[in-house]
Amino acid sequence: MGSEVYFDNNATTRLIPEVFEAMRPYLTELYGNPSSIHRFGSEVARKIQQAREQVAALIGASDPIEIVFTSGGTEGDNAAIRGILESRPEKRHVVTSQVEHPAVMGLCQHLEKKGYRVNWLSVDQDGLLDLDELRDSLNDETALVTIMYANNETGVIFPIEEIGKIVKAKGIPFHVDAVQAAGKVPLNLEKSLIDLLTVSGHKFHGPKGIGALYVRRGITFRPFILGGHQERNRRAGTENVAGIIGMGKAAEVALKSLGPDERQVSRLRDQLEQSLLQSCPDSRVNGHREKRLANTLNISFKFVEGEAMLVLLDQFGICASTGSACTAGSVEPSHVLRAMKVPADWLQGAVRFSLSRYNTEAEIELISEKMPGIIHRLLELSAVGKLGARPKVQQSGDRTTGSIGARRES
Ligand code: PLP
Repeated sequence: MGSEVYFDNNATTRLIPEVFEAMRPYLTELYGNPSSIHRFGSEVARKIQQAREQVAALIGASDPIEIVFTSGGTEGDNAAIRGILESRPEKRHVVTSQVEHPAVMGLCQHLEKKGYRVNWLSVDQDGLLDLDELRDSLNDETALVTIMYANNETGVIFPIEEIGKIVKAKGIPFHVDAVQAAGKVPLNLEKSLIDLLTVSGHKFHGPKGIGALYVRRGITFRPFILGGHQERNRRAGTENVAGIIGMGKAAEVALKSLGPDERQVSRLRDQLEQSLLQSCPDSRVNGHREKRLANTLNISFKFVEGEAMLVLLDQFGICASTGSACTAGSVEPSHVLRAMKVPADWLQGAVRFSLSRYNTEAEIELISEKMPGIIHRLLELSAVGKLGARPKVQQSGDRTTGSIGARRES
């Protein structure tokens, strides 16, 4: 380990050494509880306040008070949606999209079982929403609209401000899952129409298990986790102090390097995209080519199994991912690509390469060099592939089974 060629940054990112150094004292000698009255605790509380300011600055919130620390993106999404619904119990209708992360999708499915009506907005072949469908879906019963900023699988970016105008014109609370956007695109919450917004530390080189929910001042929000008075009664439980401080530092670094990082990763991503499209016949990009995160490439290879590709890439130390989920031994194609109506021949052969500031040109060259051979090998393994049907790639050994058995949801 350590020599991996890591292209799975939408799943999680490498901790920046500076972030680790900022966290270290709070995992060792500075172990006070921030709620304690004594100096040892209040010094920690002061650092938490600094982290709150750093996170507020990253997302352009006008007041650090609007930041509530959570355990990550999943909790942030749950807290936002449940918190709004509980404050508007008479409204039983929620609007979301068909391409949300399971953190939102799973909860909305649960809400349907509890008697809520949910509108699942469709996307077109580029992964974009139809804003008229959104407009038509809103009514007096609508408690909340929850839409992601950028898609974790394709990187497709939704027009959040336009969506906000439509939603807020009806006076409906608007939540945005910005887990994949924060630290990658500039955000300015003060000037936006967003009421609640979720971010997660480990997606921008901070630690795992820490996130933040932005709750605009004046928004009525009922806490989802009850107990102590931490986070101004909005999220009970002794704080993940080191995590919060690490996330604050990561936010500070991300804000400073937003522009240069975006330019660097988009140049490398485009280079990878060009080279794979040229060298691998029967390949196509999934998702809108412009309205997309600079770091994400979702590419399909016809008649090839994405999971088998991952296993072969892994043999060269290359880490990527697919959007499929393995349930009871069978591979379920990605719900995002299905919603985009990606044709069946291409659906299983999707691979996501997601970059970060740590990727290099040499790594792009390595992938570009290995990929045609991998595709060729997989197509050869299946005579059926040559006849035009999707091949069933034969794999052997525990390594293969283990690698493809994991469910990927990030
Ligand atoms: N929302 C989106 C769009 C994500 O990509 C993820 C994680 O991949 C989450 C929510 C969940 O975040 P976390 O892993 O911090 O729970």
